[in-house]
Amino acid sequence: MDAVTVIPGTSGSARLERAPEPDLELGSVLVEALAVGVCGTDAEIAAGDYGWAPPGEDRLILGHESLGRVLDPGPTGLTVGDHVVGIVRRPDPVPCPNCAVGEWDMCSNERYTERGIKEAHGFMSERWRIEPEYLVRVDETLGVQAVLLEPTTVVAKAWEQILAIGQRTFWDPRTVLVIGAGPIGLLAALIGVQHGLEVHVLDRITTGPKPALVAQLGARYHTGTVAEIGLSPDIVVECTGVVSLIQEAAQKLAPGGILCLTGVGSPTSTLSGSAAGLANGAVLKNLVLFGTVNANRRHYYRAANVLARADHSWLEQLLTRRVGPDDVDRALTRQPDDIKVVMEFASA
Ligand code: BGC
Repeated sequence: MDAVTVIPGTSGSARLERAPEPDLELGSVLVEALAVGVCGTDAEIAAGDYGWAPPGEDRLILGHESLGRVLDPGPTGLTVGDHVVGIVRRPDPVPCPNCAVGEWDMCSNERYTERGIKEAHGFMSERWRIEPEYLVRVDETLGVQAVLLEPTTVVAKAWEQILAIGQRTFWDPRTVLVIGAGPIGLLAALIGVQHGLEVHVLDRITTGPKPALVAQLGARYHTGTVAEIGLSPDIVVECTGVVSLIQEAAQKLAPGGILCLTGVGSPTSTLSGSAAGLANGAVLKNLVLFGTVNANRRHYYRAANVLARADHSWLEQLLTRRVGPDDVDRALTRQPDDIKVVMEFASA
C-alpha cells in the first residue's frame, strides 16, 4: 500500500512510498483511509524538528488527524463502511496514575506514544489498523469535515480545563480573546461562542478567509496588538506560542483571568526581562497560566458534539486545500490562505 513516511530528525525526508500492509499488532480493526488533516506538528516532523519512529525502525508513517471507513470491524459492534477516527495517544506502559485511569492526555512520565508523532505509525496510509478501544465512530453526514475531530478534541480539552480551573473561585466570565486564527484558534472561537461568551480573535492576517470566518461565528476579528483591542478578557486562548503575545495577553487579562497556552512557539525565543512582569502580574491579579496538549476519549465525545452543533457550511470553509497523497511537499508547505489542508486518500 502507499504511505507517507518520514525519517524523524531528517529534514526533507517525507515521501510517498510503498509500505507493508498494517501489522495486526496495531489492532484488530482494519480501516480504509479517507482523509488525513495536516497540522503544524506534521510540518515540524517533516522539518526534522520533532517526531520519533517506532522502536527499531527508521521511518515513521506520518499523520494523526484521521478519518477512515471500516473495512474489517474485527470484534467490535461496528459495521463495514462506518466512518471512524483514531485516537492519537496511547498510555505509557508503566502506567502512570493518569494513564491508568484513561487520562493519557495528562501522562505524568512522558512515556506515552502517539500515532504519527511518537514511536507509533500514523494514519497517512491507504489502510491502517487500530485497537477497538481507540476508535471513535463519527457521523457520516459530516463527510470529510470529520477530519476536524482530532484538532477539535485538543480544543475541547483546553476548554474543559479552562472551565475546571474557573471553579477555583466565584467566576462569571464574559469575554474571551483567542490569539491566532488557524484551525485551533478558529475551533477555540467556535466553542467560546457555543458557551455564550463574547469572542474576540486576534491574528496578523488581514486578507483571505479568516476575517469572514470569525464574523460568521458572531465573533470579532482584530489585527494589530493585544493592547489595541482595548479589552480585558476573562479568558485568553493563546494558539501561536509567540512569547511576546503571551506576555501582552497576560498584561491585559482581567483580574482572576485564565491564560490557556495551546501553541508551541519558536524554540529560539527566550523570555526577556519582562518575564518578571509576567510573574508579578500572575501574582497580583490572581491569574492562572496553564498549558494544554492532546485529548482523551472524553474529549473525543465532547468534540463530536461541538462539530454536530456547528454550522456545517462554516466547518467546510475551514478545509481550504485538498491534496492527494502523491503531493506530500505541497501538503506540508504552508500557503498564505491555508487554514486546514487535507490529504485525501479516497472519497468520503
Ligand atoms: C496533536 C496532539 C499531540 C501533540 C503533541 C498535536 O499536533 O494534535 O494530539 O499530543 O501534537 O505531540
